[in-house]
Amino acid sequence: MKYNDMHVHTSSSPDAEIPAVELCRIALEVGVETIGFVAHVDLHPSDHCCNGFSESDYLAELDLAESSGVRVLRGLEVGEPHRYMEEAELLFTRSRYDFITGALHWLGDRHILKGAPFFRGDALEIVKEYYRETLVIVQNSPINILAHMGILRRGMAQAGLTVDLNETVLFPSLIGEILETMIRRGIALEVNTAGLRRPERTTYPIADVLRMYSELGGERITLGSDTHRYKNAFFGLSAGHSLIKSCGFADYGVFVNGEYTAAPLLSS
Ligand SMILES: [Zn+2]
Ligand SMILES: [Zn+2]
Repeated sequence: MKYNDMHVHTSSSPDAEIPAVELCRIALEVGVETIGFVAHVDLHPSDHCCNGFSESDYLAELDLAESSGVRVLRGLEVGEPHRYMEEAELLFTRSRYDFITGALHWLGDRHILKGAPFFRGDALEIVKEYYRETLVIVQNSPINILAHMGILRRGMAQAGLTVDLNETVLFPSLIGEILETMIRRGIALEVNTAGLRRPERTTYPIADVLRMYSELGGERITLGSDTHRYKNAFFGLSAGHSLIKSCGFADYGVFVNGEYTAAPLLSS
């Protein structure tokens, strides 16, 4: 089995612990042939990773990994790109990267990966707001991949709420508009497997969103483990890969120099 994992954090990110060279060594052991590395570029003032990005340190770390035998792709995960992309672009040179991933972790001052917002507010209203902001991201942001759509289940689970909502049923026109906008703009939908190792036990997004994307004609799918730590490095790739196959996609892909390149799905 040879996977392409397009969401892997190195120790350059303040919340991650594995150097790029080590990640490549582990990748070879577990059957990952391509690593799409990302570093957090966060400018939300309350974010743990705010101001934690150094382009020179990050790229130097990736250079060291080049001779590892794993294909190294250079990426970034920009938080709230619809609000901070201009500021973020002062911190990096786009031409040095293969891809930019856009991520939504904050709704205003509410960190939706935590339980707190869901204790205070109406959960369904927060879900709707999350998708309204997601729509603005895919409409306006110069990104290649939308990261972990639906990750707010992590905060919901922490708040003790059920996470078995189906946004394609709750907000079909809003979700449809997000996915159609992504298709029109060439933004890939990431299947993020980090939720499979958390209490919510689901990918972000859920299978119904993937099926809706496929039915609308979406073809650009990436797979990402969101690896931060040794104990769950590359977790869930097999399950995520199977899910992509079962939702009707012919292949999945990677970005090289900003261009989407399809890669075959494996036969078993
Ligand atoms: Zn993220
Ligand atoms: Zn991430």
